[in-house]
Amino acid sequence: MAFKVPRGTQDILPENTPKWQKIESILRELARVYRYKEIRTPIFEHTELFQRSVGDTTDIVQKEMYTFEDRGGRSLTLRPEGTASTVRAYVEHKMYGAPDQPIKLSYMGPMFRYERQQAGRYRQFVQFGVEAIGSADPAIDAEVIAFAMDIYQTVGLKDLKLMINSLGDKETRDTHRTALINHFKPHIHEFCDDCKNRLEKNPLRILDCKVDREHPLMQTAPKLTDYLTPTSREYFEQVKKYLEILGIEYEVDPNLVRGLDYYTHTAFEIMSTAEGFGAITTLCGGGRYNGLVEEIGGPDVPGIGFALSIERLLLALEAEGVELELDDALDVYVIALGDEAKLKAVELISSFRLKGISADMDYLMRKMKAQMKSADRLQAKFVVIIGETELEEGVVVVKQMETGNQEKVEINEIVNYLKQQLSID
Ligand code: ATP
Ligand code: MG
Repeated sequence: MAFKVPRGTQDILPENTPKWQKIESILRELARVYRYKEIRTPIFEHTELFQRSVGDTTDIVQKEMYTFEDRGGRSLTLRPEGTASTVRAYVEHKMYGAPDQPIKLSYMGPMFRYERQQAGRYRQFVQFGVEAIGSADPAIDAEVIAFAMDIYQTVGLKDLKLMINSLGDKETRDTHRTALINHFKPHIHEFCDDCKNRLEKNPLRILDCKVDREHPLMQTAPKLTDYLTPTSREYFEQVKKYLEILGIEYEVDPNLVRGLDYYTHTAFEIMSTAEGFGAITTLCGGGRYNGLVEEIGGPDVPGIGFALSIERLLLALEAEGVELELDDALDVYVIALGDEAKLKAVELISSFRLKGISADMDYLMRKMKAQMKSADRLQAKFVVIIGETELEEGVVVVKQMETGNQEKVEINEIVNYLKQQLSID
């Protein structure tokens, strides 16, 4: 019987890992310069954490969680997203008491959602996300958005669109909620079962429905932006002002509500506008969640963050035809001719590696010609050849593959020679 990966998951093969590693290193480097320190939380959490923080009426909690009972009878869930765990850790470790606020955290790792498989939608996918907890300054909303945009620009994407909206504060949400119920109630029988359910529980979610997206009542629905309290409106204006100062273009989308229950004020999404990206164009989603920390047992502390998946970032790169600059070329391939030379070759590649020079050799006892072919395929920058005569003379032949130039170098000098050629300190 032949086994296959479970539906919605994938193997990332050696020919693709350099791309992943490159993106991961860009993300880590940006987290360093924006100063969002990495946090690593468990892959599974108590189910209730997600029910509480993501929200009972969301798609994630209603249909997408991998929930299981462990041998001790506890209900656990593979994390479907990173904010809940991050905020749980923030509360558990009382980070709100640390002298330097806000607490700025980032995470990267696999998330799990039981979704219908389609392009850009996996059941296991890797999210990178950040959270800034402990500040209600609109400047940090702009920082978080700028960070997200910076990621896509750094990898070389151009066809991007930033959509923003404000969900306002509690008062905004309450008056808007009543208006939404009045708007949808007379026609709710025309909507899907989920929406019928959402009407009383959380009518805002109706605007986020994937099934009834085209229903005419969606376009005429009361807009949150019309219900913003003066404070919320002023907050939104400030965020926009900071974005303008940062030179970040945006569009206001009054129907942007995002899938999670705990958002307040700023909500944003970054979309790919590349042709041929396919139906799902959202690359990144984020927003402010001023009620969440308290909701899961912490003090009343505001927060904001975003999450993106590397899978969709890769799709966007593909759609725009952007090639990442990858450096997985081999520094030096050593070819030994004869048994004595082989002993020396083993010694040499070890001394290269000790100095940070990537080195490889033949382990199949193939002829010189086949070994040269390997060196080509591996994109070796240099080939070092040792034969019997070279051994006697105490030299090796070094061939620079790009130019074809060949020269003899003293065997005792070869490490220094290569270090210099490869600009390795
Ligand atoms: P969608 O509307 O596409 O279902 P969402 O609201 O469920 O998105 P979030 O929970 O905000 O998405 O997740 C943030 C980001 O994570 C998304 O913008 C997307 O880049 C990525 N993402 C979400 N679900 C998946 C998935 N199943 N496979 C790959 N990436 C995903
Ligand atoms: Mg989703």
